[in-house]
Amino acid sequence: MISVAIDGPAGAGKSTVARAAAKELGYIYVDTGALYRAVGLYMLQHGISVSDEDAVVKELSTLQVSLEFRGGEQHVLLCGEDVSAQIRTPEVSMAASAVSAMQPVRSFLFDLQKNMAKTNNVIMDGRDIGTVVLPEAQVKIFLTASDEERAGRRYRELLEKGQNASFEEVLNDLRARDYADSHRAAAPLKPAEDSVLVDTTGLSLENSVQKVLQVVRQKLG
Ligand code: C5P
Repeated sequence: MISVAIDGPAGAGKSTVARAAAKELGYIYVDTGALYRAVGLYMLQHGISVSDEDAVVKELSTLQVSLEFRGGEQHVLLCGEDVSAQIRTPEVSMAASAVSAMQPVRSFLFDLQKNMAKTNNVIMDGRDIGTVVLPEAQVKIFLTASDEERAGRRYRELLEKGQNASFEEVLNDLRARDYADSHRAAAPLKPAEDSVLVDTTGLSLENSVQKVLQVVRQKLG
């Protein structure tokens, strides 16, 4: 099986680029952020404070997260319910970031991610795929872009979905999330030593995908 790990900060274009590259290669695209988002959403739905680690961890015995693939598209199920759309709000982003800093939450989601790569050729994106989840991945890419560019992409995405947001708010949220993701003790966001850096600042989606495919093809020979 072949694994391509794509890590990087929020809004670097990981999901869009990875989805397109996976289609081109005939691999399954696994968006691991959706798993942390589902856990975050569960806590919001149940009124559990995401800053209370004990309370969050207690819920792990009742909450169920799974992935389904329909027409090549990933769907994330929370206790059997498809929450793929519901997890794309700024509140859930922040809740996901908070719960993802908790080691028991990371362990809870570990096997699910690992098993996907055991049985499929995958492009998996996240924060710790090349460093923790799939250190054996044949290809590791660290995808990044400037803060402003990343915030601009997120901002436009939210507007397209009809959600209210200001650019400043999006930029501040993104910086706060990057800081928290990079400075936590459990699996912090950082490039794997053997990763290739791809900076998508100023690149079109098409060019970003081509750059990633170039790295994959080079690595796989
Ligand atoms: O990638 P996305 O923005 O959907 O991820 C939401 C949050 O989940 C991130 O801010 C990060 O805190 C967390 N995450 C993580 N490890 C991953 C994927 C996401 O900690 N592999």
